[in-house]
Amino acid sequence: MTDFAYAVDGDGVATITWDVPGKSMNVMSMAGYGELEGLIDRALGDAGVKGVILTSGKKDFAGGMDLNVIARMKEGGAEALFAGVMAIHALLRKIERAGMDPKTLKGGKPIVAAMPGTGVGIGYEIPLACHRIIAADNPKAKIGLPEIQVGIFPGAGGTTRLIRKLGAMVAAPFLLEGKLSDPKSAKANGLIDEVVAPEALLTRAKEWVLAATDADLVKPWDAKGYKMPGGNPYHPAGYMTFVGANAMVMGKTMGVYPAARALMQAVYEGALVPFDVALKIETRNFVSVLMNPSSTAMIRSLFINKEALEKGANRPAAPDQTVRKVGVIGAGMMGAGIAYVSALAGIEVVLIDATQEAADRGKAHSSDLLDKGIQRRAMTLDKKAEVLGRINATTDYAALSGVDLIVEAVFEDPSVKAEVIAKVEAAVGPECIFASNTSTLPITGLATSSKRPDQFIGVHFFSPVDRMALVEIIKGAQTGDRAVAKALDFVRQIRKTPIVVNDARYFYANRCILPYTNEGIRMVSEGVSPVLVENAAKMVGMPVGPLQLTDEISIDLGIKIAKATKAALGNAYPDDDVDAVIFALAEKGRMGRKAKAGFYAYDAAGKREGLWEGLGQMWPVAEDQPDLVTVQHRLLMSQVLEAVRALEEGVLTDIREGDVGAILGWGFAPWSGGPFAWLDIIGATKAVEICDGLEATHGVRYAAPALLRDLAAKGEGFYDRFGGGRKSAA
Ligand code: NAD
Repeated sequence: MTDFAYAVDGDGVATITWDVPGKSMNVMSMAGYGELEGLIDRALGDAGVKGVILTSGKKDFAGGMDLNVIARMKEGGAEALFAGVMAIHALLRKIERAGMDPKTLKGGKPIVAAMPGTGVGIGYEIPLACHRIIAADNPKAKIGLPEIQVGIFPGAGGTTRLIRKLGAMVAAPFLLEGKLSDPKSAKANGLIDEVVAPEALLTRAKEWVLAATDADLVKPWDAKGYKMPGGNPYHPAGYMTFVGANAMVMGKTMGVYPAARALMQAVYEGALVPFDVALKIETRNFVSVLMNPSSTAMIRSLFINKEALEKGANRPAAPDQTVRKVGVIGAGMMGAGIAYVSALAGIEVVLIDATQEAADRGKAHSSDLLDKGIQRRAMTLDKKAEVLGRINATTDYAALSGVDLIVEAVFEDPSVKAEVIAKVEAAVGPECIFASNTSTLPITGLATSSKRPDQFIGVHFFSPVDRMALVEIIKGAQTGDRAVAKALDFVRQIRKTPIVVNDARYFYANRCILPYTNEGIRMVSEGVSPVLVENAAKMVGMPVGPLQLTDEISIDLGIKIAKATKAALGNAYPDDDVDAVIFALAEKGRMGRKAKAGFYAYDAAGKREGLWEGLGQMWPVAEDQPDLVTVQHRLLMSQVLEAVRALEEGVLTDIREGDVGAILGWGFAPWSGGPFAWLDIIGATKAVEICDGLEATHGVRYAAPALLRDLAAKGEGFYDRFGGGRKSAA
């Protein structure tokens, strides 16, 4: 079986069709490169061939490099990796030069990329080396270089070519943010050359091949007198671009993402030298990023393991549980969002609230989000009507007839939930699965109100539902396999990423987030500068500092959770010092962002202005401040140790879920690959040493868990012992 087919027509135009057997999307493998090179050689060496069309046999062009292959390529070490990437450059350079005379730049054969749909990563880097890129007008197609999002950067010439094609300023969002474009915007932005009707793709490509002149084949950077658009770094305009771009990268990433820095270095140094040297510089930086443990961890969590979880790595063997009609009870902030993502995924929705007005308000949320989509041109009026048509907003439980899944999102009050469970069970069929979106109430307890506890489960969404990718599925003590399968199939339908955890106080995500916000607040009470607290968090890659996060969650919710936890733990409650701070703020009416007053000050429109100056009077900043790293260790360890304890206790059963869930659920330092990946990066021995130091100064909450000590003693890492889906020992 081969990945590419080759045919030459009567006019001497060769078509190389990429069509990897058994896959819905073409991905590049090392063997694939070899094959493609063989076919390019064949076309260039055949006097009867005038030019080449490179296209795909699938609806899309290609999804990129198989990141599993990258993960394997690294095993050979940096030198082998460097050689491998340089071989890819040689192939792409061969396509670009297409047999032309290197001096006169004449006599080459035109090679055109004809893209029927999506082309990302290497699936766009190969077209970039062709002489023309023609894409079918397929609004669903995505074109671009998303590598930065998994911790690497475009390393098969994409960086060097795009910078030279568009200039640093225009290319920046495509390289630094991994921004993808549909074919029309890709054409408007200069990423591709032409957009044609899908049925005209190959005829137009052939027409171009047959009409191409020698000059059409010469890339600007190979032509004499080439100047980079916007100027190179020695040019005054180019210089300013680089100053600005570097500042932007550092501002956005705080320097913790090796890929963003390496990309900037490749671009800057590459812009000063001839093209082929620039490719070498790109490769050197690319290899250094690939060899960095952060990129290994990011690829593993954000690509390999995320995909495995989405494909049902932890789905019990139950028959297909695709949801056809869902009942969402409670049309507030969460219920409205859950109704929206469900209807968008083609599921019929019955959205119930206590009053018709509240139900309608919940449905209006979908309407607002769809309007925003229309403004962004990602949605049409027809599609909007279709999606809204799927949502039946009502107060009538009889409308639940025929639903196969309930998602309950009413007030966080056990008695309200119990009442709703009874009403729902009287209205739905015996097969219906009941999922509660509770964020704090144990599922096993809620299930005691159900007549069918085996069909009762937790499905914990994050706010805002339309934007947050994670759904935490919680198994109660009696939850059965079909309920788990149903929840997982639902999450797949709405295109989110699931993790499955066992029932325990605050499940997994909130269990780890609360110690993080608490630790930040505790430091304020100790006299640590709030500025230091917030910046330390961001400089270690947390998207939001603990004090800002507390404002976002709201201080009254924090108080509610604190009171409930204290009631449950009694004398063992460890957070009185934290409570002293939030209770004092609450007394002043500073309830967080929604009150436009919290740890931060806000303007009249609710825009965050900066840390509230009054904090200094309430909790004077001590003269002696801890060093940055200590603050960072406190903030990270407070989360990470909870993750380890959740694993020890069997709340988490798969560290892949712990890492993916942490990044997608609360933004845990994505550069690290997640809490377990971070512990593996620093090593268990070092981690225990940090814990011992923190425990001595700050108390028992930093005591190293037995599992961590055991790994340290045996010189193992979490992924050595629990990787690849191996279950925890708990
Ligand atoms: P909300 O107050 O915005 O919405 C609750 C809705 O439920 C209201 O519209 C209310 O009218 C309705 N309701 C109350 N009693 C009802 C009844 N008997 N029958 C029908 N409808 C009823 O609250 P929310 O923030 O959407 O939270 C809902 C649930 O989701 C809670 O369990 C909460 O803990 C959980 N949750 C919230 C978040 C969050 O960030 N807000 C995140 C995850 C989970």
